[in-house]
Order: sequence, then C-alpha cells, then structure tokens
Amino acid sequence: MTTSFTIAIDGPAAAGKGTISKAIAAELGLAHLDTGLLYRAVGARTLEGVAPIEAALSLSAADLERPDLRGPEVAQAASKVAVIAEVRAALVDFQRAFARRAGGAVLDGRDIGTVICPEAEVKLFITASAEVRARRRFLEQEAKGQAIALEEVLADVKARDERDMNRAEAPLRAAEDAVLIDTSELEIDEAVASALRVIDARRR
Ligand code: C5P
Repeated sequence: MTTSFTIAIDGPAAAGKGTISKAIAAELGLAHLDTGLLYRAVGARTLEGVAPIEAALSLSAADLERPDLRGPEVAQAASKVAVIAEVRAALVDFQRAFARRAGGAVLDGRDIGTVICPEAEVKLFITASAEVRARRRFLEQEAKGQAIALEEVLADVKARDERDMNRAEAPLRAAEDAVLIDTSELEIDEAVASALRVIDARRR
C-alpha cells in the first residue's frame, strides 16, 4: 500500500462501520482509528464532572483504554459533547495526523469524509434502518449479559441519530463522493466484501 492512503468510513450508530473498518484494516494491513472512542472518552470524563472542552484538550491514551467506554450512558454523553465546536476542534489534529500516517489508515466516525479527511482516497457511508441497528446493538448487549429492552435501545439509537444529524458542527451526512452501503439486508461478510470491492476499484 502506498504512503498516505486514507479510507474514510462514516455512518450512524450500529450500522456496522466498526466491524467493517476493523476487517478492512486487517485485510489490507492498514492502521485503524475508531474516532467514536475519542468522543466517548471525552463523554466519560464529563460524567465524572470534568468540563467537556477541558476533557477534550487533556485527553490521554489511558482515557481511551477505559473499560466503560462502550456502554449506552457513555454513548449518549459522547453525542452530547460532540455538538460542541471546541471539543471537535481539539480532536482534529490527532485524527488528521493518524489519517496521513505512513502505510495508510482506516478511520471510522461521523465526519471523516466530510470534515476530517475530505481528500481521503476512498469514502464509504455505511447505513442500515434504525430498527435493524437497534436489534444488532440489543443482541450485542444481551451477549454481554447487559439486559436492556429492545424499545429502549431503539430510542437510544434514534436520539443519537437525531443529535448527530441535526447539529450545526460537522453533522452526520454522507460526503458527495462517498459510496453508500446499506447493511440492513447484508450479513457481515457480505458487507465487508462489498466494501473491499469499492476500495479495490478505487485503487486501480
Ligand atoms: O461511533 P460511536 O457510536 O462510538 O460514537 C459515539 C458518538 O460520538 C456518536 O454518537 C457521535 O455523536 C460522536 N462522534 C462524532 N464524530 C465522530 C465519531 C463519533 O461526532 N467522528
């Protein structure tokens, strides 16, 4: 892979972008950054009483390794801090440097193709219906032994979509040149295969 090959993957919560990004990075030997983790780490610190901008400016590697980042409470806190322009600005340089690292990188999030890496060589927008996404999240949480009602997970997914799509700063939307992959009816290996076909076509 040539130097500085960036794959930008955006989409709403639980559409499959995390799984697809990891699989693509492993298959192509690229580094992977789940940018949602940055916002989750900031959100987690605000739940402890730290001010959002201060949390974003002082984010450390240890904050990204906290075991509680994947829970629904932190997810909501993340989407609340993500509307703050100064929080987003504090996280830009790290993401751009990661995107341009030698050997290439896959970044997944909400604004990678639109704001962080508008020049990315490949842009994908991964989506699925809210119902399908809620069911997937529900099954994931159930497998972890965290029983949450499906209706509650659906309400959570919809609340986050609403906040992510309607904020003034870097709202969730597909870049004009992104390729859309709807995973509602796809198994994970089919979704990964279709993403790899798009990447392959762009590299040739
Ligand atoms: O991807 P994940 O669900 O972990 O992201 C948590 C929240 O972080 C999202 O709901 C969104 O509000 C925010 N986020 C963002 N921009 C990104 C990645 C995540 O605003 N690039």
